[in-house]
Amino acid sequence: MADNCLFCKIAAGEIPAQIVYQDELVVAFNDIDPQAPVHVLIIPRKHIAGMNDVVAEDSCILMRIHQVAIDLARQLNVAESGYRLVNNCNDDGGQAVPHLHYHFLAGRKMTWPPG
Ligand code: 5GP
Ligand code: ZN
Repeated sequence: MADNCLFCKIAAGEIPAQIVYQDELVVAFNDIDPQAPVHVLIIPRKHIAGMNDVVAEDSCILMRIHQVAIDLARQLNVAESGYRLVNNCNDDGGQAVPHLHYHFLAGRKMTWPPG
């Protein structure tokens, strides 16, 4: 756990969040400022600052994140209608919280290109 990391604290239960799924590798919780009817953040328990810091030994974590996204999509009945899984990396990518996270967005038609 990194000092003063918001998402490490959420994963540890030190800061409350509406958790929708958790296991030994990942935690998924509702975004505090949802950008779609469904907006869940899926994060590793391990502190990884961002996409550039992912290493080969994290492959199980990344696979689990994808599995959680697929399971959420099926549970929410959007697997066929569609959804979006987004990672923002660093300033130009729009990353505000320096702990790797993926936005699971669903429940409305997404636009492209993103803003
Ligand atoms: P980023 O811009 O880094 O890709 O996404 C960070 C996300 O974290 C944003 O969508 C923001 O709304 C969300 N967020 C920031 N602080 C909190 C918080 O304290 N709790 C929850 N649940 N989400 C947060
Ligand atoms: Zn962290």
